[in-house]
Amino acid sequence: MSLDVRPAVSLKPFNTFAVDVRASLFAEAHSDDDVRQALGLAHARAMPVLVVGGGSNLLLTADLDCLVLRMASRGIRVVEEQDGQVVVEAEAGEPWHPFVLHCLEQGLAGLENLSLIPGTVGAAPMQNIGAYGVEIKDVFHSLVALDRESGALREFFLTDCAFGYRDSLFKQQPGRWIILRVRFQLQREARLHLEYGPVRQRLSEQGIEQPTPMDVSRAICSIRSEKLPDPAKLANAGSFFKNPVIPAEQAQLLKQRYPQMVAYAQADGQVKLAAGWLIEQAGWKGFREGDAGVHRLQALVLVNHGQASGLELLNLAQRIQADILERFGVVLEMEPNRY
Ligand code: FAD
Ligand code: NAP
Repeated sequence: MSLDVRPAVSLKPFNTFAVDVRASLFAEAHSDDDVRQALGLAHARAMPVLVVGGGSNLLLTADLDCLVLRMASRGIRVVEEQDGQVVVEAEAGEPWHPFVLHCLEQGLAGLENLSLIPGTVGAAPMQNIGAYGVEIKDVFHSLVALDRESGALREFFLTDCAFGYRDSLFKQQPGRWIILRVRFQLQREARLHLEYGPVRQRLSEQGIEQPTPMDVSRAICSIRSEKLPDPAKLANAGSFFKNPVIPAEQAQLLKQRYPQMVAYAQADGQVKLAAGWLIEQAGWKGFREGDAGVHRLQALVLVNHGQASGLELLNLAQRIQADILERFGVVLEMEPNRY
């Protein structure tokens, strides 16, 4: 079937910040063939291509003079099973949370802490998505990506991906790799991670002392729903800044001035600060100017109350960055991908 390419499409429904910018051309790829067709068409028109998934980690600041290609390929399959170790492959366009639930329903553990993260399977390796002490790298088997430089397919294994904190090779080489499908190493017998944040406490409150992976998923969904705005009701792109990781000496000096400061020692001797705590201390929590604002419950999340433009959101983020630098001497790095 030939690719359905539409001109002058509003991207408002395709980014969770609900920013209303236009793409010169827009298409959805349901297969590898669609991806290749789209690349061919863009090449013929000398037009750049921007690949997107669920648009939940984007900040769009202007109309895009390019072909926006939304990954919509579907399919989940078990590709290997041995001694309780199961490799599951999912197509890039599979929505992330339903995929997590599907695996849990099949009795496959490993993804439970990553429940309720918006977006698609194909985008998950981009920033090595993480939550509640688990990152994609902990359950990653391999992926298949199309190299836009050579046109060839390439298989990546764990050590090829340069996964870091909200980082990967794919993020470091923007636009080069189109991730087509991802494989995860899951287990029939769960090894649960309950030590992070309020997870164990929430389970105890529910009277669950011997949780199943599904119990953990439900507990995390309930914690997240209380704290994080649902993009369908209040537009946002999740955490807007990464948690800064700073040298131990700097963290010690800050801790002397701010004894309540939230800080976590890292394996490499550095210290991770909770960016949300810094922003809240600086008085930004609940701030609103026009329709661009900071969420009233989680200062790390910028929100669009209605008609904010991408530039207004970017401007607010830059003011917060400057203020945090001045007050604490700490650089905040933006997390969403900006176009
Ligand atoms: P998009 O936003 O569409 O794209 C993100 C980037 O990946 C873009 O640069 C895009 O070009 C590229 N891309 C997308 N698909 C592909 C592909 N197939 N091949 C190559 N490049 C591609 N993130 C976390 O890590 N942890 C969380 O707990 C978390 N919670 C969130 C909560 C909320 C309410 C929201 C709104 C966001 C949250 N996020 C979180 C951020 C976001 O959900 C993830 O980064 C998610 O993986 C983005 O997926 P997406 O499909 O929406 O990607
Ligand atoms: P939280 O539980 O209030 O914790 C605040 C911050 O402290 C988190 O960002 C987390 O860092 C860190 N933290 C908490 N417990 C920790 C521990 N035991 N060891 C080391 N670091 C710890 O955070 P939250 O905002 O409600 O988010 C909960 C989880 O979901 C976090 O992992 C967060 O990253 C993830 N999340 C991510 C996004 C996104 O868009 N990227 C959006 C919402 C939630 P880390 O962020 O490094 O884990």
